[in-house]
Amino acid sequence: MSALPAPERVEGFGLYNVSVSPVYRPSSLNALRDALAACAARGEAPVFRGSGRSYGDASLNALGPVIEMTGLNAIAGFDEATGIVRAGAGLTLGALWQFSIPLGFWPPVVTGTMHVTLGGAVAMNVHGKNGWRKGTIGDHVESVSVLKSDGRVEEIARGTPAFDDVLGNWRPQGPIVEVSLRLKRVATGYLDVEAFATPNLTATLDALDRAKDGWDYVVGWMDCWAAGAGLGRSVVHVANEHALKEGEPRGLSVAEQTADVRMGPLPAPVLLLGLRLTAGGPQMRLVNLAKYVSAAAHGRKRYRQSLVAFSFLLDYLPGWNEAYRPGGFIQYQLFVPKAAAGAALEKALRLQHDAGVVSSLAVIKRHRADPSPRGYVPDGFSLALDFPVTRRNASRLVRLCRAFDALLLECGGRAYRAKDCVGSVERLAGARGGRP
Ligand SMILES: Cc1cc2nc3c(=O)[nH]c(=O)nc-3n(C[C@H](O)[C@H](O)[C@H](O)COP(=O)(O)OP(=O)(O)OC[C@H]3O[C@@H](n4cnc5c(N)ncnc54)[C@H](O)[C@@H]3O)c2cc1C
Repeated sequence: MSALPAPERVEGFGLYNVSVSPVYRPSSLNALRDALAACAARGEAPVFRGSGRSYGDASLNALGPVIEMTGLNAIAGFDEATGIVRAGAGLTLGALWQFSIPLGFWPPVVTGTMHVTLGGAVAMNVHGKNGWRKGTIGDHVESVSVLKSDGRVEEIARGTPAFDDVLGNWRPQGPIVEVSLRLKRVATGYLDVEAFATPNLTATLDALDRAKDGWDYVVGWMDCWAAGAGLGRSVVHVANEHALKEGEPRGLSVAEQTADVRMGPLPAPVLLLGLRLTAGGPQMRLVNLAKYVSAAAHGRKRYRQSLVAFSFLLDYLPGWNEAYRPGGFIQYQLFVPKAAAGAALEKALRLQHDAGVVSSLAVIKRHRADPSPRGYVPDGFSLALDFPVTRRNASRLVRLCRAFDALLLECGGRAYRAKDCVGSVERLAGARGGRP
């Protein structure tokens, strides 16, 4: 049986939620069985952890051990005819795209970071910037294998009640050990991107809604500081697979993908220092203003970008979340049905102004409804709001999140557990998957 590991500090990605736990790091199924047996012998229920990219406490255990699943990361098979890859739950999206891009495949749904594991992606049923076209990752999972309490591995196919019980279940009975995922075939590793400014919330919602039918990827960066006639103004990015011209490189290598990642003229260490000095400060108001004004001045801007540069830009500033120490930061992501979106998101913006706590980075997306039993995504919009936590704003921030909770109840929306840091929505709504 595994020895009890020494307790260590375990953090959510936002660095605001912390626990101290013994962490098991099995690198084989047998080592995982041993860790589970050791927990059971002590009467402790472990919490499973992928890469710890959930912002809050989803992969923390205030009451006991954590089992980190990243060691179970082997690719067991890939069928080029169907695009189905079978891989350990600890494999990251980053390792997956590096494997699949030279074969002309890309994960059908990716998150804003490539460090997420397949197990963590399934347990939260993650979504991407192509939420309208491709739904959530669960729409592309063929089966999951789960380690049962008697030590057996059970493969569960999609379309069964047992599958519905695993998908989006962030507190499962047993760990997911393998995932079969259908990848998307791509002719090129590049996207044709268009960026344009929208002057207010109505224009932003309208642009995202209209873009969803002609574009694979649709996302907006909202300037939450803007008030009055500019409330909800944004910079919208839409993208489709690049229309390949004869003789052009296809961009189907890791080197071509990463060569396209450009942060601007400043090197990463300087950018990180800049972020450290501005994170949480009033300067972020100017950064948002500059981004909007520059997009508005350029009109409709068109460019080609690699899938990696478009999807995972922030990963090339490793440790950017550290800039928010000591208080950390939280993210609150509101999902609101389309019919209620105009009024609800306007209220979400006004609540920030009234509270004197305004999001430093806000991302808006258009989604199709996810019908899975634990689904959190309506046919509508999501707005993800980042807030640095400081000594001065902490209590106002918690009150603001409570006001968002109430707003979501009012408009039939949902919060997203992967981002939740101070959450009460599940408890208020009595929804499944609430905190233990
Ligand atoms: C920069 C950034 C951008 C992001 N962008 C998006 C986005 O665009 N869309 C989106 O949907 N999310 C996004 N996220 C959130 C992230 O995708 C989810 O929190 C995801 O679940 C993290 O995966 P992980 O492997 O780090 O899992 P963790 O955060 O470690 O765990 C997540 C949950 O899964 C459970 N879990 C993990 N592995 C297993 C397993 N093998 N078996 C059973 N349960 C398991 C954990 O107990 C926990 O409840 C983003 C996060 C960051 C930091």
